[in-house]
Amino acid sequence: MNSKEEKVRKGWCGPCHHRCGLNLYQSGKVITKITGDPEHPMSKGFICSRGKTILEHLYHKDRVNFPLKRKGERGSNEWIRITWKQALDEIAEKLLNLKEKYGPETLVFAHGTYRTYGWPVKRFFNLFGSPNIMGAQNICRCPGWIVEWSTCGGPLFSDMTNSKLIILCGSHFKESSPHPGWTSLVKAKKNGAKLIVVDPIKNDEAEIADKWLGIKPGTDVYLFLAWIKYIIENNLFNKEFVEKYCFGFDELKEHIKNFTYDEASKITNIKKEDILEVADLYAKTFPAVIPWTFGLDKQGINANQAQRARLILEALTGNFDIKGGELIGRNGVGPITDYEMEANEYLKSSQREKQIGSQKHRLMAYPGWELIEEAALRKDPSYALPPVAEFGASAYAPDVFDAMITGKPYNVTAFISQASNPMVTLPNGEKIYKALLNSKLNVVMDYYITPTAALSDYILPAACTLERADIQDMHGFSNTILANKKAIEPLYERKDDYYLWKELGRRVGQEEFWPWDTMEEALDFRLKRAGISFDELCESYQYSMEPKYKKYETHGFATPTGKIELYSTILDKLEYPPLPVYKEPKSSVSSNEESLILITGVRFMPMYQSELRQIESARMKHPEPLALLNGKTAGHFNLDNNQYIVAENDFGKAVFKLKISEKMQDNMIHLEHGWWFPEESGKLPHLFGVFRSNCNNLCPDTNDLVSIEIGSWPYSALDCTVKEYKV
Ligand code: SF4
Repeated sequence: MNSKEEKVRKGWCGPCHHRCGLNLYQSGKVITKITGDPEHPMSKGFICSRGKTILEHLYHKDRVNFPLKRKGERGSNEWIRITWKQALDEIAEKLLNLKEKYGPETLVFAHGTYRTYGWPVKRFFNLFGSPNIMGAQNICRCPGWIVEWSTCGGPLFSDMTNSKLIILCGSHFKESSPHPGWTSLVKAKKNGAKLIVVDPIKNDEAEIADKWLGIKPGTDVYLFLAWIKYIIENNLFNKEFVEKYCFGFDELKEHIKNFTYDEASKITNIKKEDILEVADLYAKTFPAVIPWTFGLDKQGINANQAQRARLILEALTGNFDIKGGELIGRNGVGPITDYEMEANEYLKSSQREKQIGSQKHRLMAYPGWELIEEAALRKDPSYALPPVAEFGASAYAPDVFDAMITGKPYNVTAFISQASNPMVTLPNGEKIYKALLNSKLNVVMDYYITPTAALSDYILPAACTLERADIQDMHGFSNTILANKKAIEPLYERKDDYYLWKELGRRVGQEEFWPWDTMEEALDFRLKRAGISFDELCESYQYSMEPKYKKYETHGFATPTGKIELYSTILDKLEYPPLPVYKEPKSSVSSNEESLILITGVRFMPMYQSELRQIESARMKHPEPLALLNGKTAGHFNLDNNQYIVAENDFGKAVFKLKISEKMQDNMIHLEHGWWFPEESGKLPHLFGVFRSNCNNLCPDTNDLVSIEIGSWPYSALDCTVKEYKV
């Protein structure tokens, strides 16, 4: 620290989900330096290369700092600065007009990854009367999360650090979750835990693993079924736990007779002896965890069934709510939760029934969410809680965009998006583009003018984590609640999303539901139930409830049967397979001999999803979109390292720079996701080059390739061909 720098205050990091603690140093009025905060109870001084970009982000010249209104044609990327008052008045008036003409369901919202508070938008939508909140949740965390809820009655947290065995299936923690994912893994290894990595790519995790199983993408559910079979048929399951706390064992035992180890080996490309060795190790090592991973979520057709089979393994071995196992359940009532703040009771069933896609993919839409909610509400609230409806009761994004184009099943005319960039992050960008051009009102609140924002009518300036007050309580399931004040007052006219929904709410007849002028006031209201104010919580940095294990001995599980449902009564009721099944992914049925197995979406530093492309230090480290092939496969196609290639399949094509990597197996290709080029023109038709290197061009949202339960579209287990790119 130089003599003019003064440590001012603490803040939370923001370029990814985890909110590591930061110390901020100031020179004059400018924050000049950040370091990891050793006093932060969770991150304890950790900061990664992604987090180190936050000051560039805070002061970046391209940040949206004032409300903007479209000047020319939609897509002309020409804007005039307006006041917040004008923006809010005009948007509210248009919303009321569209509501009157088409009904409240005409309004849809797209959200992204944990940049917003969550409950304010759901509260606004419930009161407005629209059931149509959507986003990328169908492929990220929620395929596992909603299955955990419907199978076990709540979300699971894998206690990796205290575990003796970790089976990691499709997670690149070092890139996706430097903290706490990678740090916990390394710590667990130091503590003596064994690590098994199941992944098509020989990633950094595989390098430190005791065993790597290089599985064929999209086939994990069959591997898990083989392990279930081995554990049951060799009497290695925890009989007492299964008898007392699991439902449907006999049906499961009968069901697994349909699967064979030889078939498992053929389908997964893993040697039979390796499959059996790991099954035996898992059954005999206690405690053990199989954490939730994105790699399972993005498998499309098998995503939910793979997550179901994972939970069944954990239940058969009794690895529930023990130190070093899968933690579940709340440890006390604590503050008012996000779920309670959503005002779900105000959305009438006649409006819920209009939710787009909810009759097709029912588990994570209102039909499934209501069954899960009912089971959770039967339990003591100090232990169980329904999932937030913002994610748990979602409209289905691909069908919403269809409705915006076709007017079927009804007119969807108003689109609001926060911390989301569907043009880059969702499949079938061409469709999204047409839908956004077709709508009558597009509003985007974001940090930068993204390809999605460039197609809007209003762009509203968003405050980042350093400019926002917040608490972190894992939707009511963390026994440690953290709080953080704004590290600095928002620069220019940036606002948090609470401000937007409160102000719009007060303009459309919801005045009585928005009594808090600021998020800090709303947080005080929520924290009062825990007997602490927001300021007090910030001072003490955390509020902890005593962790308890084996809470199920008192409460059971918050499912319809009160047990972990090996046989899912909720899936049965929704007319989906109640026991895990395997379906062949697209890559397995491809007829083209030159086809490669396509994987997309593996995280890479320092980028995060579609963010950080305008951050100079990040682009210096990772300037271009990469495709990974191993040397043998590249040679087969006469391709060289650093050459530009085009990857193509039935759905579309995209251009990447080839990087030869021996982490890849033969005949597999990985395409990076999230690429657009903020340095290029944002005007149509170029739109920041959004279609050039967008791996989602090759990712479909067609009904035959998505999971039936929640409509997870595939970001892996696809196929494509490659060739040299010629300009
Ligand atoms: S893991 Fe890295 S980017 Fe994410 S919050 Fe922590 S320091 Fe920030």
